[in-house]
Amino acid sequence: MMVRFAKRILRNRLAGFGAGLLLMVTGLCLVTPFLGLPDPNVISTADRFSLPFEDGFVLGADHLGRDILSRLLWGTRLSLAVGLTAALIAALIGSLIGILAGFFGGKLDDLLMRSVDVLMAFPYILLALAIVAVLGPGLMNALIAVAIVNIPFFARNVRGVTLVIARSDYIAAARLSGRGSISLLLFEVVPNLWSVIIVAFSTTVGWMILETAGLSFLGLGSQPPQSDLGSMLGEGRAALITNPHTSVIPGLMIFVIVMGINLLGDGVRDALDPRLAKGTLQRSSPVTQVLRTGQPAPVDTQSTLDVAGLSTEFRVDKNPLRAVRDVSFSLNGGECLAIVGESGSGKSVTALSITGLVASPPAVITSGTVGFRGRDLFSEPFDVLRDLRGRRIAYIFQDPLSTLHPLLTVGAQLAEAMVTHDPRLTKPVLRRRAISLLEDVRIANPEHIMMSYPHALSGGMRQRIGIAMALANDPDIIIADEPTTALDVTVQAQVLRILDDLRRQKGVGLIFISHDLNVVSQISDRIAVMYAGQIVECGPSRDVLEQPAHPYTRALLASSPQIGAGGGLPKPIDGGLPRPDDLPAGCAFAARCEMATDICSASAVELRGSASREVRCVKWEAANG
Ligand code: ADP
Ligand code: MG
Repeated sequence: MMVRFAKRILRNRLAGFGAGLLLMVTGLCLVTPFLGLPDPNVISTADRFSLPFEDGFVLGADHLGRDILSRLLWGTRLSLAVGLTAALIAALIGSLIGILAGFFGGKLDDLLMRSVDVLMAFPYILLALAIVAVLGPGLMNALIAVAIVNIPFFARNVRGVTLVIARSDYIAAARLSGRGSISLLLFEVVPNLWSVIIVAFSTTVGWMILETAGLSFLGLGSQPPQSDLGSMLGEGRAALITNPHTSVIPGLMIFVIVMGINLLGDGVRDALDPRLAKGTLQRSSPVTQVLRTGQPAPVDTQSTLDVAGLSTEFRVDKNPLRAVRDVSFSLNGGECLAIVGESGSGKSVTALSITGLVASPPAVITSGTVGFRGRDLFSEPFDVLRDLRGRRIAYIFQDPLSTLHPLLTVGAQLAEAMVTHDPRLTKPVLRRRAISLLEDVRIANPEHIMMSYPHALSGGMRQRIGIAMALANDPDIIIADEPTTALDVTVQAQVLRILDDLRRQKGVGLIFISHDLNVVSQISDRIAVMYAGQIVECGPSRDVLEQPAHPYTRALLASSPQIGAGGGLPKPIDGGLPRPDDLPAGCAFAARCEMATDICSASAVELRGSASREVRCVKWEAANG
């Protein structure tokens, strides 16, 4: 565990470099007493300002002729010890305050956090100076001052996280089971706080060493003749121009230490938060990166939407994750194309790639075109794409609770969806339209629902609002990504009915994504079955459902329950999807296929057949020419 963690830190080269610097410095500090260095405090006026390597002084001598190397190493020991101790004290007291305030809340929280606010009301260094002024100069007092001024940082950070943990459901469940507060704190809350405390510690320790040095520099920390890095810098300052080595050397040491700590601290933070290392917290660009080799093929002008040869991959580790590979389909107004496949087969990434909505980095579209009314969307400027999104091509997602804004009423959100694309719309018009949209999705009391917040509505109701929002700008295409997966069967049937009516009445092209063949059989004209990022079978719904040609389609059908069909239990498909960063050379389904033979794995299998029925299977090809 520790070794894995260390490895993760060291994968970040800068963190490794920082760790190396620190190891070197602490190593030197540890062996200092055994190096046989001259006494750091012995004055020898004859050797004043000796240069490095002069008169037997390795790093020269200072204004009193004292050995700089000896003072530097002893001083570094002291500075590190004081800085680290101050950081530990601040972390301990600050975290304790944060934990108590966050966990118990109420009056205690008020009392503790207002006291912390008082500390925070003063500028940092000024407060430290004031504390030292009261306590009197000296290294111990500098330590106390630095520790005190850093308590708020830990208290605030830890309180915030504790607050979230203390309000979470598993804590509530543990409390209901009869566990006491102390046991909850020790065994449920604190273990979850370690990473926050460690990150806060590693990012502030360098700063605290600097602050201690700063106080010593001003003569408020270590007192002569005792040396620490700050006081050495302070003493060398007078001779900065004439004998720069007396101040440059301690200055360099401070630089090396703080730099090492900060680089390592960043590494620790990244290692504790794998999302940072994977680039997920990076700000993604508003449109997926498109890196196509060569000139893109001209797009089909016959159909409303024409996706051709689309490939999208995620560049996370060494091998790209090939989530979508060479996917082609087209769609016209009033049609419904279903994309089916088990979870992870690339359906959502396909859907989001169409308008460049896959987060990038890490996603890259490596080939293909998306033709919309004869224009290649990937070649158009961003403004065109942005205008199309939501206006001409709209989305409905699986979980409307996470896509609806929790703090705005349903009416306000519907209005926003319309105003974004047409700023001239006035309030009364927006209201009228919002009501008619809600009526379109069969909401019985639209006036009342307009004023409601999403959390007060049921799942089926929220999904209807999701559909209403998608309809708000009369789109040509609606892409519904598992819109009924979160709903129960009765509500699912209602939502399907609404979608089906809408596409017939309004002539909208519908891409309906689901993992469930039973669901898509109720709504789609055509079905495309996806497996491991590829379409493995595509054809008219009835044909695909009644005469499935690909072994995967058959397995998928056998695995979904058929009510009243008289056949026994649904039959699961053994095994799992191949890893998208390590796909087999031949058929991706071969490993799970009952019919597979050696030729299936020999080479890549093409999608074959006529325009009305395409299948990616060697066996089918052999049987059907
Ligand atoms: P589904 O068919 O269930 O909608 P997706 O299209 O969401 O599947 O995912 C297809 C593949 O892409 C999966 O292997 C998934 O792990 C991968 N994937 C999706 N999003 C990301 C991402 N942001 N980073 C890396 N891999 C991803
Ligand atoms: Mg999905």
